[in-house]
Amino acid sequence: MNFDYSTKTEELQNRLAAFMDEYVCPNEKAYAEEINSGDRWKPLRLIEDLKEKAKAENLWNLFLPEISGLSNVQYAPLAEMMGRVYWSAEVFNCSAPDTGNMEVLWKYGSEEQKEKWLKPLLGGEIRSCFAMTEPDVACSDATNIRASIVKDGDDYILNGRKWWSTGAGDARCKLAIFMGKTDAEKPKHLQVCV
Ligand SMILES: Cc1cc2nc3c(=O)[nH]c(=O)nc-3n(C[C@H](O)[C@H](O)[C@H](O)COP(=O)(O)OP(=O)(O)OC[C@H]3O[C@@H](n4cnc5c(N)ncnc54)[C@H](O)[C@@H]3O)c2cc1C
Repeated sequence: MNFDYSTKTEELQNRLAAFMDEYVCPNEKAYAEEINSGDRWKPLRLIEDLKEKAKAENLWNLFLPEISGLSNVQYAPLAEMMGRVYWSAEVFNCSAPDTGNMEVLWKYGSEEQKEKWLKPLLGGEIRSCFAMTEPDVACSDATNIRASIVKDGDDYILNGRKWWSTGAGDARCKLAIFMGKTDAEKPKHLQVCV
């Protein structure tokens, strides 16, 4: 088995490393200062400026194979580099839970949903959250989820308590993907629906 990095990964690793060295690592102190002053949910000027630079250098949306052309194996070393500074993934529009939510929209969203949420998420203009974890049950096993999703004419009624929803507090959060059960009578592994 060949464990070498592909040429494409190596080229991106070099460019990403240079970007991290020039713009991200030297700004760790500036990030801490900005987030500790004022409203912590407000978008940070530093991140917004760095996002523009990353976009201009085409270090943007690397997580999505359909855009970056990278497989998971090719992307993994790049994600590892971003992981060295905990806030840096957002600079490259590669931060959870937006990444997973964009993948869901890309694969399963209607044209209307894509226009409304996927496009601005891919542009780094809005944020999203993934509402899975609940305070009353062990959520590392999604079959424990208690929240219900009940069809009501053309609408759905969502009933449940969620916490730990990363991104929900962001002033730009426009979309929540909600995990609940549509039919609690079904066999255990067929109950959870998004
Ligand atoms: C930084 C951060 C961001 C997060 N962001 C989000 C988010 O965006 N959206 C969201 O919905 N949630 C989010 N979470 C919550 C996270 O996904 C849950 O905490 C996680 O799924 C575990 O669920 P739990 O807390 O209920 O732990 P539990 O399921 O209660 O697990 C507690 C411990 O028990 C162990 N355990 C559980 N069941 C078993 C078993 N049957 N056998 C053996 N061991 C077991 C687990 O491995 C773990 O060590 C976030 C958490 C963190 C820390």
